[in-house]
Amino acid sequence: MPELPEVETTVRGLAPVLEGRRIESIELRRADLRRPFPVDLRQRLTGARVTALSRRAKYGLIDTDRGDTFVFHLGMSGSWRVDPVEIGKHDHVVIETDEGRRLSLNDPRRFGSVDLVRSDSLELVPPFAAMGPEPLGQEFDGNYLSRALQGRKAPIKALLLDQRVVAGLGNIYVCDALNLAGIAPGKAAGGISKARLVRLAEAIKSVLLEAIEAGGSSLRNYVRPDGELGYFSSKWRVYGREGKPCPRCSAPVLRRVDSGRSTFYCAKCQR
Ligand SMILES: [Zn+2]
Repeated sequence: MPELPEVETTVRGLAPVLEGRRIESIELRRADLRRPFPVDLRQRLTGARVTALSRRAKYGLIDTDRGDTFVFHLGMSGSWRVDPVEIGKHDHVVIETDEGRRLSLNDPRRFGSVDLVRSDSLELVPPFAAMGPEPLGQEFDGNYLSRALQGRKAPIKALLLDQRVVAGLGNIYVCDALNLAGIAPGKAAGGISKARLVRLAEAIKSVLLEAIEAGGSSLRNYVRPDGELGYFSSKWRVYGREGKPCPRCSAPVLRRVDSGRSTFYCAKCQR
């Protein structure tokens, strides 16, 4: 499932193809993904020039010179392909640029989404309106976490997954950051000392940046024949590594399942 680093890598891979280019055509090969496509999507994007690409939480943002932002989410299985050899049944949106480059949004399970929002009101509409800060932004640090978690009795893991506390974190990188910081996933958030929250904020940035770097280098060194962007084999610390040695203390990594979601952690060194 694509998480923040995969979305960031995708945006970086799309930027050289799209930035400054005019959208020659946009083909919608079905009416919806998780939600229906906006009815005026084709009309508003055809002929528009792309001015910037960016990311907010797990959403990719493509700004145009008409004041619109094309917002995409990769859901469970979405990815963009650059200049695909052929368009298949899972390619639902195909964009062609004025340079004749083709981009397709491929999503077999169709949990992704595509929306069009006025750029100047992006931060005012759902889901962006209620979102906390970006984990890689300057605002996000130990001081912020200490304020946001003060008096909260919920487990730290649940609050890090709450998009109102911090935007764009998913299960994989929350498990890994808690391991790196040596904090037990079930610990009551409000009871964690300031010094440990400082370490936690640094650990979150570190696991995300490492994954983005890995994605960036796989993008540079390894272009798949189908042009797929954004997926790469990550070296996770504890996620998906039940029974393997903890990278901090070598005790076996444990896995716990609550409400269908796995938590990977080390019971020996995460307190
Ligand atoms: Zn350990």
